[in-house]
Amino acid sequence: MQDLIRAKIREIPDWPQKGVNFKDITPLLQDHELFCKTIDFMASRYLGAPIDKIIGIDARGFIFASALAYKLGTGLAIVRKKGKLPGQTISKEYSLEYGSNILEMHNDAILPGERVLLVDDVLATGGTIGATAELVKQLRGEIIGIEFLLELSFLHGREKLKEYNINSILQYEAEASLKIGIIGGTGFYDFFGETAEAINVETDFGKPSDVIIKGKISANEVYFLPRHGKNHVFPPHRIPYRANIAALKKLGVDIIIAPSAVGSLKPEIKPGDFVICDQYINRTAKRADTFFEGPEVAHIESAYPYCLGLRELAVEQGRRLGLPLHEKGTAVVIEGPRFSTLAESKIFSQTADVINMTQYPEVVLAAEAGICYLNISLVTDYDAGIYADGGAKPVSIDQVMVNFKNNNEKLKKFIAAIIENIHKKGECDCKKKSESAKI
Ligand SMILES: [Zn+2]
Repeated sequence: MQDLIRAKIREIPDWPQKGVNFKDITPLLQDHELFCKTIDFMASRYLGAPIDKIIGIDARGFIFASALAYKLGTGLAIVRKKGKLPGQTISKEYSLEYGSNILEMHNDAILPGERVLLVDDVLATGGTIGATAELVKQLRGEIIGIEFLLELSFLHGREKLKEYNINSILQYEAEASLKIGIIGGTGFYDFFGETAEAINVETDFGKPSDVIIKGKISANEVYFLPRHGKNHVFPPHRIPYRANIAALKKLGVDIIIAPSAVGSLKPEIKPGDFVICDQYINRTAKRADTFFEGPEVAHIESAYPYCLGLRELAVEQGRRLGLPLHEKGTAVVIEGPRFSTLAESKIFSQTADVINMTQYPEVVLAAEAGICYLNISLVTDYDAGIYADGGAKPVSIDQVMVNFKNNNEKLKKFIAAIIENIHKKGECDCKKKSESAKI
């Protein structure tokens, strides 16, 4: 029966917003026989159970709730969005991804001690049903169970509602899961918990910096690679950049999110700020920076070297989280491992915003591999030339470490938000550029 129902759920892409695959239940409702079977199936779990009322939730929940109330011989009560119920109501506010919503219920909808069954069409993140459960509790009703037609399992709504008996007829995994690489500091190990899997990868360019940890964030497979190795054994100029990108490519990674610590070259870019770099200036000299050493030759277009779709998504999510964010910036990448002289720093500050030792050649190798690449620069201190002029105060190494630790937590939340919303990533031409680079 599940297959028959699934066949009658119409998928509407990009509705009500881009990236959302809306599940339209109206073809199911049009099928008399299947709709009756659906209601019978929902009711079968509760035949003979002591239920006093079914609670239907605005708006498609009403359809299933009223049919179930008829079938089970119970009363029906409804929960509506704010302002729809006249008379005396109680209300509950709950947060949505953007902003919040309010649900209301008549204050006499449930009598104290009544046993109720909650019904809605879709379980998504669980916000609506959680708020409904709170309303029922306010009226001192007892929740016997919660029934859904569909469950979007990848949104993990069920996890917020562990105390209840929840059923859904159909479960949907995410439509398209992406493979996302994170190249960053060691602070990311705790992203994945016990389910993580360690993967050894060999490439034509040798071994990557360390074993790669595979985990899951929402529906996406996430591969974490510590840039300097788990025990920080590779200085910036010795990182196996080609092996790192080649290993992620081999694992099928489509997207790389690459946080890095940077120094600020501008007084207005402060320690603790985030910069979503859109340009780089390469001042490294000794690094293998192409996969194409001949006979195959490629010239990768580099006018806009960072993935535009990922940059837009990062800016949107960073703003939503209220992070101190610079929407663009130019990074100068130096060979290191030494820091800049005063004279160098002053020159760099005329053309760049931040300074770092690892963004290049990571960014260009990802571009050659056709992988979307996002840099998130986390500012730890001011570079020498900035504070020498008295434009800003120097930051001690202790302060750098404190800044980095505090902001690492914010960075992790930021990256998690980007991955959870990766389906909203806009168009880009990263793949096309890599294909057209080859001669
Ligand atoms: Zn891209």
